[in-house]
Amino acid sequence: MRRAKGCMAARRGPSAAGMRPLLALLALPAAFGVPSDAGAAPRLELAITMDDLPAHGDLPAGETRLSVVRSLLAAFKAAGVPEVYGFVNGALVEQDPALERVLAAWREAGYPLANHGWSHARLDSLPLGQEEAEVARNEPLLARMNGTADWRWFRYPYLAEGDDPGRRAAMRSILARRSYRIAQVTMSYWDYEYDEAYRRCRDKGDEGGTAELERLFLHSVEQGIEYWLSLSRAVHGRDMRFVLLTHVSAINARMMPRVLALYRRAGFRFVTLAHAERDPAYAADLDPSRPPALDLERAPRALPVVPRYEPAERLEGLCR
Ligand SMILES: [Zn+2]
Repeated sequence: MRRAKGCMAARRGPSAAGMRPLLALLALPAAFGVPSDAGAAPRLELAITMDDLPAHGDLPAGETRLSVVRSLLAAFKAAGVPEVYGFVNGALVEQDPALERVLAAWREAGYPLANHGWSHARLDSLPLGQEEAEVARNEPLLARMNGTADWRWFRYPYLAEGDDPGRRAAMRSILARRSYRIAQVTMSYWDYEYDEAYRRCRDKGDEGGTAELERLFLHSVEQGIEYWLSLSRAVHGRDMRFVLLTHVSAINARMMPRVLALYRRAGFRFVTLAHAERDPAYAADLDPSRPPALDLERAPRALPVVPRYEPAERLEGLCR
């Protein structure tokens, strides 16, 4: 899906925080405890997931959907990431069957695929009764591509679980009946905000602009760590196991080796989605027949939360 605002547009956070120098967060662990424990045993756990397979966001000239995914897979393998779930919109493959090659590359790397809805529709905006078809229509493709790998995880498009309690419960009962678990999101760096500016910078051959964009991007990764750690501590009083949302985008393909190194430096080790979601904080996601858990971004908080960094203003003028 070509979505200017990406998966999480429905859940934009509070207003912009100031830009601070790169790595400032990791050098200043006192305020919110973001670690800078290079050399120490990792004490934080992160499951990595990617959305919108087989195609997300703007594609710079010279790149293909397959080249993007191959770069991503190479980065994950080089960093020893044990598993990366790829969440699929099957409608893209129906529109362009050649894109099935992207899914095949994912599987050849040994990573599993799961369900992100057939057409990336917001489930709570569909006419009543059509939600289940949006989930079910993806299943033959997932079953065929995955073999014995477990594809019964669902990632809500736009992370929109619905504000109406009745619709939200109805959707959960559909997922429970079809034996899904919900792939929650508790870590992100809002990568989709960079897609358009990155394509502009590359198409223009603007090396200075690209370098500035890379700097902002890595700042978002660092600041995302600080934001989600502070949320976890404010809501749960501890560091939960985290689940990272990213997208199969060209900017992620370029930056992933540096992104993974940054998480490592911050004290994370990479784990599977099932391992992360065995954290008790995700009990309602593992069993959708239960009432929904607290939304981490909306839950009452006992501690202050770091405001998230929003790069839109800086990106707007970049590589014009
Ligand atoms: Zn998505």
